Amino acid sequence: MILLLWAALAMSDVQKQVTVTCPVDGTKFTATEITGTNHWGGRDADGCPHAFNTTPLESYVWVCPGCKFAGRKKDFEAAVSDADKKALLAELKPLAEIKKDAKQNQIPGYVKFDLLAQSAQIRKAAPEELGRAFLHAAWSCRQQGAAVRDLALQAGWRNVQIHKDLDGFDRVLEAT
Ligand SMILES: [Zn+2]
Repeated sequence: MILLLWAALAMSDVQKQVTVTCPVDGTKFTATEITGTNHWGGRDADGCPHAFNTTPLESYVWVCPGCKFAGRKKDFEAAVSDADKKALLAELKPLAEIKKDAKQNQIPGYVKFDLLAQSAQIRKAAPEELGRAFLHAAWSCRQQGAAVRDLALQAGWRNVQIHKDLDGFDRVLEAT
């Protein structure tokens, strides 16, 4: 029984809700901080880790719904220079519309990581930081794909054809 309880706990991410203040425009918003996860979903050939039943990757980056500044926890805790603020406010362009009152879970993972890459580029960060942001954007797309079968069934699709991919995750071939 204790073992079962432990197994159930280990399958979830350890997370807490935090209030974040944007260092660029001062907007306050609520975000999820992941303090623990698991790699029970395996790891792809390119290193992309999969948690069991959860997709924590998209919570590692937060996006200010006001000015679209994107960063990890440390980026939101650090000061941003006036020159960087001006450039960020002028140049950040999200791939999908983000409403001023959008919650973090309403912003797709790839949009967050793309904004992280844009923020890094605008602030002239090291090239490897930019590369990591794009790599994680791709991983985030893949993880969302792995969860798509459940979403298709929940949305009322009856005939969902699944193909098991090389990484062991389900992909939807056809849904009618
Ligand atoms: Zn902001």
